[in-house]
Amino acid sequence: MKKPALKMALAASLTFSAFGTQAVLAKPSEAVQSQPYKVFDNKVINEINVDNIYNNIDYLAKVPRVAGTEAEYNAVQFIKSEFESYGYGVDIQEFTFTGYTPPSSMELTVDGFEGELNPSSFTYTPSGDVTGELVLAGLGKKEELADIDLTGKIALIKRGEITFGEKVLNATATGAAGVIIYNNADGAVNGTLGEAREDYAPAIALTKAEGEALAAHVQSGTVSASLKVEGAVTEERTSHNVIATKKPTNKKKANNDVIVVGAHHDSVELAPGANDDASGTATTLELARVLKNVPTDTEIRFITFGAEELGLIGSTHYVDNLPEDELNRIIANFNLDMVGSKDAGDLVMMTADGEPNLVTELAQESSKRLNGEATPYAQGGRSDHVPFAEAGIPAALFIHDPVEPWYHTPEDTIDKISKEKLQDVAEIVGTAVYDKARFDNTGTKAKKVKKEKNIELYHNKDVK
Ligand SMILES: [Zn+2]
Repeated sequence: MKKPALKMALAASLTFSAFGTQAVLAKPSEAVQSQPYKVFDNKVINEINVDNIYNNIDYLAKVPRVAGTEAEYNAVQFIKSEFESYGYGVDIQEFTFTGYTPPSSMELTVDGFEGELNPSSFTYTPSGDVTGELVLAGLGKKEELADIDLTGKIALIKRGEITFGEKVLNATATGAAGVIIYNNADGAVNGTLGEAREDYAPAIALTKAEGEALAAHVQSGTVSASLKVEGAVTEERTSHNVIATKKPTNKKKANNDVIVVGAHHDSVELAPGANDDASGTATTLELARVLKNVPTDTEIRFITFGAEELGLIGSTHYVDNLPEDELNRIIANFNLDMVGSKDAGDLVMMTADGEPNLVTELAQESSKRLNGEATPYAQGGRSDHVPFAEAGIPAALFIHDPVEPWYHTPEDTIDKISKEKLQDVAEIVGTAVYDKARFDNTGTKAKKVKKEKNIELYHNKDVK
């Protein structure tokens, strides 16, 4: 939310009272600097039309935009045509990734077992229809399986110590045709095998109560079981990044720097993603429109990334495919992800290492000028600023914290969007970018530090 601007110190020139006592001085430099800044900031602020942002969110958030689907591709085409309507040349960067569709149904039947079984799936389990002897296989560790013949059988494994993926791989390597993993605590397993592979047997999850009852049943004698997973698909899919470039206004006076302003246009399954992240996408579009014709000595790239929700795939592809000298030109990445929810908390900037950088410094200065208070920063990964940060580029995620209850749900819709929040973020980011990109700015210099790889994916599933 925008906070009221501080009153400017009007009394700066009244340095002495009639009685010769010294009055409180406003620092002259502040008074001198505030004037041109106001002019620069207003060049951006006066052009922002929050209805453009809102209407583009409304358009994009009609349907979920899962990476690799036709809906995501339609969004890509819409974003491209919007950029073009502002006068940009647009590059579409295509990339492929391994996509996964979860099972449509799962079935487990066990001979002679009376209780009810409600299996759930693991992300990346393949489909399959297997029948075989049900065998207790402990925690599924290699050393436990060494003496058990699992060939053509279904392994019943308890959760714990090693990952779900390792358990399934260990069992499959010793010949298991199917795997059941049951919980070691109350509640459902919301699990993933971690990555798509060809050498998994079909795997399902059971609750602790179900698993323990099955284990007791198996101990009573030889038991046959049938396990059926249907509709799961692992395949190569295609997604796209959309890149609109604003070249420096005057080639001779240009520097070699590039600022990247970006957001992701994909959403998760079933979620129309109004806030996550049509809000960031539409704000990126509006900033591209606003900044199109303002003179700058710095290149600005407006990029919407695909397949963020599946593990920052589009932004990672973009960064990984830049030659070293091109990468070195990028001095800042402003990443807008979830910037318009009525029901989320206050604006915060997240950096991968929790340290301030050029992006947070520029935005703290602009937010202080606009709102009288600097937007705080904190440590946070899980979005498209991470690949930039790992390449040593100053990068920050703009997000409202805590996130709204509708995050990653079908309720993430246009009616939850706040124009005030969109306006606030567009102003802070737009003026911060312009502050650095305009001519004659000798201000804050970028500091580049190589970071260790530390990918925190936008997943919230258990692997262990
Ligand atoms: Zn997001």
